[in-house]
Amino acid sequence: MIKAENVTYKYTNQEGKDIFALKGINIEIKEGEFVAILGHNGSGKSTFAKHLNALLLPYDGTIYINGMDTKDEKNLWNIRQNAGMVFQNPDNQIVATIVEEDVAFGPENLGVKPEEIRKRVDEALLTVGMFEYRKHSPHLLSGGQKQRVAIAGILAMKPRCIILDEPTAMLDPSGRKEVIETIKKLNKEEKITIVLITHYMDEAVNADRIYVMEEGHVVMEGTPKEVFSKVDEIKALGLDVPQVTELAHLLADEGINIPNDILTVDEMVVELCRLK
Ligand code: ADP
Ligand code: MG
Repeated sequence: MIKAENVTYKYTNQEGKDIFALKGINIEIKEGEFVAILGHNGSGKSTFAKHLNALLLPYDGTIYINGMDTKDEKNLWNIRQNAGMVFQNPDNQIVATIVEEDVAFGPENLGVKPEEIRKRVDEALLTVGMFEYRKHSPHLLSGGQKQRVAIAGILAMKPRCIILDEPTAMLDPSGRKEVIETIKKLNKEEKITIVLITHYMDEAVNADRIYVMEEGHVVMEGTPKEVFSKVDEIKALGLDVPQVTELAHLLADEGINIPNDILTVDEMVVELCRLK
């Protein structure tokens, strides 16, 4: 679905100095996968995300979306339809004054027929659990609800892949939960490929695979268990591991016989009961 080959990207700042935000990135994401990208501020995550729907083009290297080179202008329309983006701030993504009109905006721009738009909007709102709010004003919704409407707007374009750049960063814990549950559902039930950029470790636990970025490089890659079991390495990168993983690590340091790749509270409970 997504292939990044040796992708380099540079910005030029106000003083005319080059800033290399991506330095030879190689990432491959299969259709139907749920991949999380971690890394602290400035590591290049958003720059990478913007390459996935051709908002930015590589300075060097190549990005393929569904086999289509993003540098090839004739692919642009198709790529934008295949790879939808959800950003951090839900307020910046709302374009209409009624929820269902907002969701209809994307497919309208794609030239979808009105009766098909009607169908897609209803389906998308049902999928994200916002159907009953279809006649409401988006501006009066909670942050989590707004973000779910933004996701519905992308869904209505029928993408095969959705890229979410820190979609929960501005939400409270209940809003975060709503959005993460929605993302999991899109992946499991609708089989949509997910690229979730986050710095909440507990959100990355849901992924099939994780990439960790640092200063424009990919520095770690693996399943959540593989990545988070390397507690010291993750901490050296200035990142955290999920709290239960950290607890398991501390217990193991105290000589308690417990695996180092525990990711969820449920797994921890099983291990603690076994010890008893
Ligand atoms: P992240 O999303 O991981 O926080 P970004 O991709 O936003 O990282 O930024 C990567 C690097 O590129 C940072 O050093 C940042 O300062 C720089 N950068 C991002 N956007 C611009 C821009 N428009 N102009 C110049 N430098 C930028
Ligand atoms: Mg960012």
